[in-house]
Amino acid sequence: MKALTWQGRGTIRCETVPDPQIQDGRDAIIKVTACAICGSDLHLMGGYVPTMEKGDVLGHECMGEVVEVGKENTALKVGDRIVVPFTICCGACRQCQWGNWSLCERTNPNGKMQAEQFGYATAGLFGYSHITGGFPGGQAEYLRIPYADVTHLKVPEDLSDEQVLFLSDIFPTAYMAADHCDIKGGETIAVWGCGPVGILTIKSCFLLGAARVIAIDTVPERLAMAREAGAEVIDYAEGKVQESILELTKGLGPDAVIEAVGMESHGADTLVQKVASAVMSKTISMERAFALNQAILACRPGGIVSVPGVYVAFDPVAMGAFMNKGLTMRTGQTHMHRYMKPLLERIRKGEIDPSFIITHRSSSLEDGPDLYDTFREKKDNCIKVVFRP
Ligand code: NAD
Ligand code: ZN
Ligand code: ZN
Repeated sequence: MKALTWQGRGTIRCETVPDPQIQDGRDAIIKVTACAICGSDLHLMGGYVPTMEKGDVLGHECMGEVVEVGKENTALKVGDRIVVPFTICCGACRQCQWGNWSLCERTNPNGKMQAEQFGYATAGLFGYSHITGGFPGGQAEYLRIPYADVTHLKVPEDLSDEQVLFLSDIFPTAYMAADHCDIKGGETIAVWGCGPVGILTIKSCFLLGAARVIAIDTVPERLAMAREAGAEVIDYAEGKVQESILELTKGLGPDAVIEAVGMESHGADTLVQKVASAVMSKTISMERAFALNQAILACRPGGIVSVPGVYVAFDPVAMGAFMNKGLTMRTGQTHMHRYMKPLLERIRKGEIDPSFIITHRSSSLEDGPDLYDTFREKKDNCIKVVFRP
């Protein structure tokens, strides 16, 4: 089959790789009908995530039709149409039972290595390096789903692939980021990053009852989409994020802040430590350095810092400000199973149709390397890429 593969920092290639096979009774294999590129894939492309190997199949946002089912898997049958959450879950371990699906203790065979190297262990993730299990991803024609009896969401026929595809990751991720802000009605929330996650986060804040959303980015089309979603926008390149936020909130600061940027805000090729010392010596401004610090600094005392933005290793957090302002941070890979069904209902009721963020479509994975570049460079007004392989 064809698949998009990682070939080292900055290089993605469409290659022919072996078709996946059932390896365990709980597995299933789908024929992928739609898959997307995520901002998290850019961290892999940029070489920020260790333990990627040449030839690893990328992709963790996908859906498709079940074509083969393992013997013990009675939850699925051939022909079922499913969305695949990016977190692989067993459904039975302590963390799964507690609803902390992204912390599943059983599905990451390399969890021990991850814990030894980084001090934490996640569930197995599709297409996201060997520390998260080394599972091939879904930017491919076929995908093997381990623990597929639990790791799936069946979707009704009356909704299109594009309407439900983002239930695989970014819509629940954005919704959890907003949910973590304890919105009760009337709050002002600031969102750093107006990529696909940021835009759906703005929508989710409003769905949950926020009165105002302030959105920060610098890409004009993204700021325009954020404005269309109802946000007041700030271009961080103007260098006045903190002042503008204070002005917009009458000196108080937002009730909660959401960092939907992740590691890239360190600056493409800059070591995080270098960025930290450059900020300390004022050779670069905080504005350009680190979205998470900006968010922490802007948040009103007693507020909430919600971080869907992905971090992998050791990053310079503004811990003094964080501790002394008594902030609460909520973060984590998304507990997909908490949100998928309720959000499917919201889509069905017509409260939201997440497909509005798609700007680029292709029916061929051969276009993958070019579209990765387009998405990374934000060329051609690109916000979200979807393949129909
Ligand atoms: P993206 O790369 O398309 O968007 C990031 C946006 O941040 C870009 O528009 C960029 O211009 C903007 N940005 C960069 N530096 C900034 C700064 N200093 N201030 C404000 N904006 C800045 O990615 P995306 O697909 O929208 O994903 C966003 C983040 O969410 C990524 O880190 C991704 O890995 C993460 N993510 C997390 C989960 C999870 O489970 N927690 C799931 C999906 C994605
Ligand atoms: Zn993703
Ligand atoms: Zn589990």
